[in-house]
Amino acid sequence: MPKPSVLVRGFSIYQGYLNRVAQSAILEDLRSVARAAPPFTPQTPHGKSMSVQMTSAGDFGWFSDAQGYRYIPTHPGGSKWPNIPPSLLRIWAEVSGVACLPDSCLINFYGQGARMSMHQDRDEAQFRWPVVSISLGDDGLFRIGNIEKGGPSKSIWLSSGDVVVMGGAARLAHHGIDKIRFGSSRLLPKGGRVNVTLRVVR
Ligand code: FE
Repeated sequence: MPKPSVLVRGFSIYQGYLNRVAQSAILEDLRSVARAAPPFTPQTPHGKSMSVQMTSAGDFGWFSDAQGYRYIPTHPGGSKWPNIPPSLLRIWAEVSGVACLPDSCLINFYGQGARMSMHQDRDEAQFRWPVVSISLGDDGLFRIGNIEKGGPSKSIWLSSGDVVVMGGAARLAHHGIDKIRFGSSRLLPKGGRVNVTLRVVR
């Protein structure tokens, strides 16, 4: 397994893990996922629109509406989620440290002004599998907190090509994206940040 360049509160961060060619190739794979499963704006259980746009690949896709946060086996439009691109499964195999394969790939698009408030990833059946996160496009200010709500936190900018593994004791740590530096990367022609997370949901 490669060595993370930084460890922040139990999160292993591999800075510059993917070179530009690999980033572009993954982006192409994500574009085909988005053609089959068009991104949508999730509504929180409180009826507010989230600022990110989302879609998924794999057996399960993350979804949210008035009925709450959950994974669903089909796109809200009714079709099956597309398969997880092999390029992403390869990264999981390299950094996750587990033999089990991910069954869900959540793709979040952050346009200008989009953010993600502090939350835990806790809609999966088990927390013994890590979450692997891949950053593409504009820089995002990633904040890592605690398992309990509140308390001190640490922030780090994530750039295009960075990979983060949240596992072990850090698996249920609160985290979020405070802001992005819109236009800081030229990977996406119109700017924005794409975050891909691979998970074991079942
Ligand atoms: Fe999360």
